[in-house]
Amino acid sequence: MTVAAIVVAAGRGTRMGGGEPKQWRPLAGRPVLAHAVDALRAAGVRRIVLVLHPDDMGRPEIPAGCLVVAGGDARDASVRAGLAALAADPPTRVLIHDGARPFPGAAMVARLLAALETHPGAAPALAVTDALWRGEGGLVAGVQDRTGLYRAQTPQAFRYGAIVAAHAAHPGGAADDVAVARAAGLDVAIVEGDEDNLKLTFPADFARAEGIIRGRAMDIRIGNGFDVHAFCDGDHVWLCGVAVPHSRGLLGHSDADVGMHALTDAIYGALGEGDIGVHFPPSDPQWKGAASHIFLRHAMGRVAARGYRLANCDVTLICERPKVGPHQAAMRAALAGIMGVAEDRISVKATTSERLGFTGREEGIAAMATCALVPA
Ligand code: MG
Repeated sequence: MTVAAIVVAAGRGTRMGGGEPKQWRPLAGRPVLAHAVDALRAAGVRRIVLVLHPDDMGRPEIPAGCLVVAGGDARDASVRAGLAALAADPPTRVLIHDGARPFPGAAMVARLLAALETHPGAAPALAVTDALWRGEGGLVAGVQDRTGLYRAQTPQAFRYGAIVAAHAAHPGGAADDVAVARAAGLDVAIVEGDEDNLKLTFPADFARAEGIIRGRAMDIRIGNGFDVHAFCDGDHVWLCGVAVPHSRGLLGHSDADVGMHALTDAIYGALGEGDIGVHFPPSDPQWKGAASHIFLRHAMGRVAARGYRLANCDVTLICERPKVGPHQAAMRAALAGIMGVAEDRISVKATTSERLGFTGREEGIAAMATCALVPA
């Protein structure tokens, strides 16, 4: 399964009053759109297409790492532009999201993708629980039965080929992609939405969104990790995903990447989920010689599954040799690629122990790591 997301953000917004379109307005200091992109990444989506108004294509605050395409006159034309941008390397699943919803949560995205195993389409929604009235002239004129009524949200999720065909066959003017899918005869499963996945429509919605961010900011999880591997015969050592030439190797059950092990343990620690040995027992022969990125990817998968994302991490390698400095940039890049986060969230640094102790005597390498996780 390969997953891509299309974030539709080409609208001009008329209900917010004057000024910037709502997807570009700052929310906790960053455009609404950037929060949506971050949340999708935290949910494990690596490929994101932004569909923007042609006037917005040169904006400096466009989130980095996204494919950017110009939208059309109407929402469905913008979605088609986003779908077309993925056609050269089609994903199996696509999430179509409204750029004015900053908090598409990881747990909800997981529910959508699970529903696509059995349905061509799936969309998040919340059952209406308030009583519904009809009003006339400011007076209650009647009660509306709420049975079977839902508040629809995005991202709406589809098997890619199915929604491409549905859009191609649609005459246009659909309210959303579920309408396009249903017009093509596709079943769309209703998946439980998320109360925090609000759509910013009115100025008061921004205040509520700021409150959600403040509330989440309080829930920070910190973890630390420490690891040591002894030198053995060899001609290189693996450190933070980079093979560093050296006159020795590192002894270990796996590839002995001491930095990546400390970092992985820090992440498990932040989640309160044990350490590498719990998830990948050394007694299990299948992990013999394993590449350590398997462990780190697993830990990051647990971060997403628990509804968190990595705020930052900091790894310190402790050794006299090899010299780490020339490889620091490559190590950050390697970790960023494995973890699916920006390099500016990752620090790798090194120190010696002033020739004291086992690292000073060059018997081995030690590493320590700290990480912070915040709600996705
Ligand atoms: Mg280790």
